[in-house]
Amino acid sequence: MKKLLWFRRDLRIEDSMLLTTKGEVLPLFIFDTNLLNILEANDRRVSFIFERVLKLKADLKAIGLDLALFYGTPLEVFTYLKTLGFEEVYAAVDYDAYAKERDHAISSILHFHALNDCYLFEPNEVLKKDGSPYLVFTPYYKACKQLYTQFHALKYVKADQSLANYDYDVLWSIQNGIQKPLHVKLESLGFASLHVNILEPQKALEIFTCKIDAYEEKRDFLDEDATSHLSVHLRFGTISIREVVRYLVALKKEGHQTEPFFRQLIFREFYAYLLYHFPKLAWENYKYSPPVSNDEEAYERFILAQTGYPLVDAAITELLKTGLMHNRARMIVGSFFTKHLMLPWQKGEAFFAKHLLDYDASANVLSWQWCAGTGIDPQPYFRIFNPYAQSLKFDKEARYIKRYLPLLRNVSSASLHNEAYLLHQAISGYPKPIIAHESARKRFLASFD
Ligand SMILES: Cc1cc2nc3c(=O)[nH]c(=O)nc-3n(C[C@H](O)[C@H](O)[C@H](O)COP(=O)(O)OP(=O)(O)OC[C@H]3O[C@@H](n4cnc5c(N)ncnc54)[C@H](O)[C@@H]3O)c2cc1C
Repeated sequence: MKKLLWFRRDLRIEDSMLLTTKGEVLPLFIFDTNLLNILEANDRRVSFIFERVLKLKADLKAIGLDLALFYGTPLEVFTYLKTLGFEEVYAAVDYDAYAKERDHAISSILHFHALNDCYLFEPNEVLKKDGSPYLVFTPYYKACKQLYTQFHALKYVKADQSLANYDYDVLWSIQNGIQKPLHVKLESLGFASLHVNILEPQKALEIFTCKIDAYEEKRDFLDEDATSHLSVHLRFGTISIREVVRYLVALKKEGHQTEPFFRQLIFREFYAYLLYHFPKLAWENYKYSPPVSNDEEAYERFILAQTGYPLVDAAITELLKTGLMHNRARMIVGSFFTKHLMLPWQKGEAFFAKHLLDYDASANVLSWQWCAGTGIDPQPYFRIFNPYAQSLKFDKEARYIKRYLPLLRNVSSASLHNEAYLLHQAISGYPKPIIAHESARKRFLASFD
């Protein structure tokens, strides 16, 4: 029986579960119009994905396979492929609401085999004694560590496969039942080709080896390059999570300090696990519903990096310029958005979703719910980051702030952490703080009375 191998969050040939499927196969990638039609033409992620899909195609060719490319909705593409005699599709799991609905629809026309290729643990593998899911990270983490065996990080080896007959040389547009061949280029999809500067995953790991021992100590410092930069690769599966874990196991044997980094990988698992078990978390609060404001002007100032809080504006500028944001900055910005500005976390989440290269529904939604204090196992609602204290602690010399807000380069770092200075001194071209920290804190807490 001919099998469809649907690459999506696993854009690689190394350690690929899809490639363990024996027999006659048609590997494919779909440029999904349901997703592409809501993006802007200069979305960097599309360039990144396109580039990686072409690399995947070349890598597959080098091992005697190929990659068929489609442009349309997955349902239309699979409906068409079924008419060619395909009955089974294999794909890596994907837990966000759209993905679940999409996969459900496809499983009504083809046998759908979901492979747990993106995570170490299956969502139903790590459960409490009563069979219910964990709601708190630390016990979940302990349970994962207890369950973990070397089999979780086993390397998958390619099976014997033959390539199904197909025209692999074009990009097949399948829309309203009509097939049309397109040139294999990004412009065929209506997107501009942008250069996305992301280190290859193996190179990122190699560089990270020198940093791993200091990871815990330095990872929060905004001007330190202390983290792995693997999030985009883990998001699109351009490296396998098992390869990262095997790398950690090897470093641990050499005496390196690997646990703090492993813990972050398990955070990634935990958030995917929570979204799987509680899909409503994608839009609904779990704990309580804080009062929210509809202040459009505050939202506009936030997204334009014009809040007058240097650290917040630097972080937003980092996001807009690079498609990424330091984790500590994401936490501060998330708290500021939901507590200082009292804007709904869903709106901040959507803004991140639009710009983050590593955007992942589970990590983003659950992290925003954590910041807002509304999620499962969030930070308490009354914990409100003081952005000035945070910048003093994590960006003392204001190097991060000045890198992204060069117009502040002549202001002393002490002044940039000092609200009184920012409220009372005019800085040419830079706004005064949108609200004083203490007033914002009191306003937020008073809204609970
Ligand atoms: C408001 C907010 C939104 C976020 N949105 C996303 C998102 O859309 N996609 C995303 O991958 N991460 C998200 N994160 C988590 C984190 O900021 C990024 O994973 C991290 O900054 C990526 O850099 P790195 O790869 O160098 O991380 P490292 O510190 O090197 O961490 C290694 C890996 O662990 C995972 N990881 C680390 N921290 C977290 C975390 N808190 N939650 C889940 N996974 C984590 C990532 O896959 C990361 O690549 C968000 C955090 C916050 C506070």
